[in-house]
Amino acid sequence: MRQYPIKKYRDIGIIAHIDAGKTTVSERILFYTGISHKIGEVHEGAAVMDWMEQERERGITITAAVTTCFWTPTYSDDKYRINIIDTPGHIDFTVEVQRSLRVLDGAVVVFDGVAGVEPQSETVWHQADKFKVPRICFINKLDRMGVSFNSALKSIREKLNPNAVAIQIPIGQESNFEGVIDLITMEAYYNEGQLGEKLDKKEIPDPYKKKAEKLRIVLLEKIAESDEELMRNYLEGKKITIEEIRRVLRKATINGEIFPVLCGSALKNKGVQLLLDAVVAYLPSPVDLPPIKGIDPKTEKEIIRHPKDDEPLAVLAFKVAADPYVGALTFFRVYSGVIKRGSYVLNSTTGQQERIGRILRMHANHREEVDEIFAGDLGAIVGLKKTLTGDTLCDPEHPIILEKITFPEPVISVRIEPKTKTDQEKLGFALKRLAEEDPTFRISSNQDTGETIISGMGELHLDIIIDRIRREFGVEADIGRPQVAYKETVLKEANAEGKYIRQSGGRGQYGHVWLKVKGIEPSKGFVYVNKIKGGIIPQEFIPAVEKGVKGALTKGILAGYPITDIEVTLFDGSYHEVDSSEIAFKIAAAMALQEAAKKASPIILEPIMRVQVITPLEFLGDVTGDLNAKRGRIESINDRMNVKVIDAKVPLAEMFGYATTIRSMTQGRGSFNMEFEKYDQVPKNIEALLVEGKKQ
Ligand code: GDP
Repeated sequence: MRQYPIKKYRDIGIIAHIDAGKTTVSERILFYTGISHKIGEVHEGAAVMDWMEQERERGITITAAVTTCFWTPTYSDDKYRINIIDTPGHIDFTVEVQRSLRVLDGAVVVFDGVAGVEPQSETVWHQADKFKVPRICFINKLDRMGVSFNSALKSIREKLNPNAVAIQIPIGQESNFEGVIDLITMEAYYNEGQLGEKLDKKEIPDPYKKKAEKLRIVLLEKIAESDEELMRNYLEGKKITIEEIRRVLRKATINGEIFPVLCGSALKNKGVQLLLDAVVAYLPSPVDLPPIKGIDPKTEKEIIRHPKDDEPLAVLAFKVAADPYVGALTFFRVYSGVIKRGSYVLNSTTGQQERIGRILRMHANHREEVDEIFAGDLGAIVGLKKTLTGDTLCDPEHPIILEKITFPEPVISVRIEPKTKTDQEKLGFALKRLAEEDPTFRISSNQDTGETIISGMGELHLDIIIDRIRREFGVEADIGRPQVAYKETVLKEANAEGKYIRQSGGRGQYGHVWLKVKGIEPSKGFVYVNKIKGGIIPQEFIPAVEKGVKGALTKGILAGYPITDIEVTLFDGSYHEVDSSEIAFKIAAAMALQEAAKKASPIILEPIMRVQVITPLEFLGDVTGDLNAKRGRIESINDRMNVKVIDAKVPLAEMFGYATTIRSMTQGRGSFNMEFEKYDQVPKNIEALLVEGKKQ
């Protein structure tokens, strides 16, 4: 039986720029919700949410695990279940951010009160806009030197959304930060007790009364804009009740019309309980949002599912994590129906059946085994073998595919060389595990040297993976320098013959093929066509030809980069009754492929990034000049308040170390972010350097 009505669920994420205090806030939330028993400081490395070693060291969170806790708001007696979906803050993990944004219903955005809105808060904010995620803002670190609630609030309004509105103001700041004033109830709150666990409610101190009155009017006017009745009552001077304010503010927040702003200091244990109150009061439950859409895998017609237990099962697997205790853990959200232990479900993405073994609910410091998980809730399944991130699990009788999470192609790679034979074996295991967890991480090997190459979304992404390979899996290895993941393709069409014939002594070898190659649309990959008729080449050797082609495609003919976006047709050849073998056909196919590719105008492709640079006007000339020198194409330059926003397309190869460049060029005032856009042909002069091996 369902223990908590779905209305009392909050599936939320906490999103922030690195170092804004997301981990500390999450930690305090788990503490106050009564689950974690001791507050572990981030710098002591004991934070509950960060369970992987290097995350703690770097102080960044990269896994999207989900943790459950309960909260009874100070203004009510009802108990709410809050599922916190962990989101990373670093740009290299946008994929992680996006997939968590997919499964959460609302978010708390944490800001550093000193820095205000930082570039990555902007990136994540815009992504949250895209997914229409309702948000509340928490201006953190009000105890820090140099903090200003007002300027942080101003930067949120100017850079992110003018509809951000304070529902609290601080009492004192920096070392005098004492507590917060709730502008809705017009009461002052102070955290008492060693860990701030006790919340004291007092009258607003005199010096703050006027200011609070003034800001309450700003708040009321803002709220009134989104509700006619309240607006009328307000204009007629009628008394507006606290309940009415909360009701309208909740509606406006869920509709994305208002972003309530709160404040506090997670480190000094101030303001976190009221933040939890606001999560319950203003962020949506699963039933407050539109139902989820999917498609019928057979008819491709749209299907809608409501968050109800009696609708057919629809579940999205949003994260696969390697767990030290139980192996693979598949994190999921139930959109409709009930997922039950021991049941069979259909993975509609792959078409395969899966049996649901153990189901876990993750609390901060323990795991609970449960028999079932209901609509609107999240959990983890142990030991699913055939389900990957982004797959849909559903009722076999009522198949549905929920919208896929799309992952970009990796654009950067690095060579990894295990030290010993044992390391080699351990590395194989580690890479397999990590690739299962992370769909943007790829493994390949260099044909000539046999070296293992790993590829990912950015320098930091690979750094983290290498760290995990070393620590979690105990592999010792040498690591090369990061390189752009170039590719090759052909522009034209060409035919070529491949012959591998040896008839000297013993058993001979005979393989003979004719192949046609043709460049095809970007991101189509490799297409193989077999046009052999009448047994010119016996059926048993056909797969060997495809294998030979595939092998040859891993090493392009210009500079050895993998060949992509190519169609290869086997259309002729011959065989020998005795001497023909699979291996001979494989070699012949590889020879023919190389020959044909050479004749079909081969080119090198490089990743082009979508780059956005934000700079004060005075550095605009320098920044654009530099982007031009980097082979960048500037698409637009716009004004945003008092800065310029430049949108450009720039080759990744030119962007290494850009964080430093932009910092020094703008005296630390500029910022940028970038995302992969597409692969495009490299200019001939650079191609020449790549071919000679003079550029990386
Ligand atoms: P994350 O990167 O967003 O997860 O941020 P962390 O929670 O790891 O915090 C980054 C740093 O800021 C750590 O050294 C924290 O101790 C510190 N910090 C977090 N919250 C506060 C706060 O309210 N006040 C102060 N002064 N420091 C804080």
